[in-house]
Amino acid sequence: MKLYNLKNHSEQVNFETAIKLGLGQQQGLFFPVKIPIITPFELSEILKMDFITRSTEILSKFIDREISKQILYEQVKKAFSFKKPLKVPITKHISCFELFHGPTLAFKDFGARFMAQMIFSLNKNNESFTILTATSGDTGAAVAHAFYKMKNIRVIILYPKGKISLLQEQLFCTLGENITTISINGSFDDCQNLVKQAFDDKKLKELIGLNSANSINISRLLAQICYYFEAFSLISEQERKNLVIAVPCGNFGNLTAGLLAKSLGLPIKSFIACTNSNDTVPRFLKNKQWKPKKTISTISNAMDISQPNNWPRIEELFQRNNWNLNNLRFGSVSDNDTKNSIKELFKLGYTSEPHAAIAYKLLSDQLQENEYGLFLGTAHPAKFKNTVEQILKNSITLPDEINCRVNLPLLSHNINPDFCKLKNFLLNK
Ligand SMILES: *Cc1c(COP(=O)(O)O)cnc(C)c1O
Repeated sequence: MKLYNLKNHSEQVNFETAIKLGLGQQQGLFFPVKIPIITPFELSEILKMDFITRSTEILSKFIDREISKQILYEQVKKAFSFKKPLKVPITKHISCFELFHGPTLAFKDFGARFMAQMIFSLNKNNESFTILTATSGDTGAAVAHAFYKMKNIRVIILYPKGKISLLQEQLFCTLGENITTISINGSFDDCQNLVKQAFDDKKLKELIGLNSANSINISRLLAQICYYFEAFSLISEQERKNLVIAVPCGNFGNLTAGLLAKSLGLPIKSFIACTNSNDTVPRFLKNKQWKPKKTISTISNAMDISQPNNWPRIEELFQRNNWNLNNLRFGSVSDNDTKNSIKELFKLGYTSEPHAAIAYKLLSDQLQENEYGLFLGTAHPAKFKNTVEQILKNSITLPDEINCRVNLPLLSHNINPDFCKLKNFLLNK
């Protein structure tokens, strides 16, 4: 697969380079030169396949030159070796599509685990390298579990001390082995700055073989395309005719993957881009002005992003397909309405969490007659236990994935947001 840099179309790279670099020159995003097409006949065939076989078919359309279908099948099987996404009916016309049954209880497991398989398999000379990444919660856990015990790969995760929940910390700071976690006495921005400084230090980069694993990596998006096909396979012929999918958005990677699925030929009628009060995109879609504001903290904190990284990819997709951005539905939901939405879902017999509840709220408001709606369940409610318990006045039981870690010691190191300290650490550990 060839990819070009959205900021400089003459910079073209192969799949391996795109994965290793993450970003191109001027921090530009990579985008596939060709988007494969799945014909309606092929579609009806692949919808009958099981999740792993179908996902291999879809991914091999992009990367069959780099990786044979047989090898890819084994990698997909390893990457997606957890419970499949589930469709849970909420009302007659709306279901939740739950993507949170992986080891870290959020949809990020799909992308992170597939990326880890790709990085591992493209490392043909068995070089050792270091993955350095900053997290505000969910990504770190997914990345840590995805690379856990992989040979020759050392993972270092920075996170702001005291600014992620104890449950989140327990999920990835108790692993040990090749996973090192460092709490930084500062904010998430401080963590991200340290990572940037490390990547700017050419000598350090070479010495320890630095590689990024952040959310803009193209391999993560490819993996996420697969579950949109799974969603489609789980609904009836009638429901497929007018399918609307509501996506809770932060960096807009999940929505990009959905739109890629549609480009491939999956006939999804419409998407709803759902945000919390960090509503740069909804305001842009309304008045065509791109005016990010300062990021606001909300109860759906994985969506607290006012400059979504993946938006240029979405614009590119609309342009290349001759789609009209006016057809992208959208909305933003306040914390107060998010809480009411969680309560409403609970009355319907479903325990949810803030991110999915935002998508449900906009879906139920905007769904038209004859349409069928899915909203994406991006995280397990237990990940937001305190918030959800306060809203519902009801206790939430922890699933095994967290339960088995709550009594283990936290193994994190702690440093000040000082690049020299981090550099010493990276060189000496
Ligand atoms: C990361 C995340 C999101 C946002 O997904 P994007 O792909 O960044 O738009 C939504 N909900 C949860 C629970 C997340 O962890």
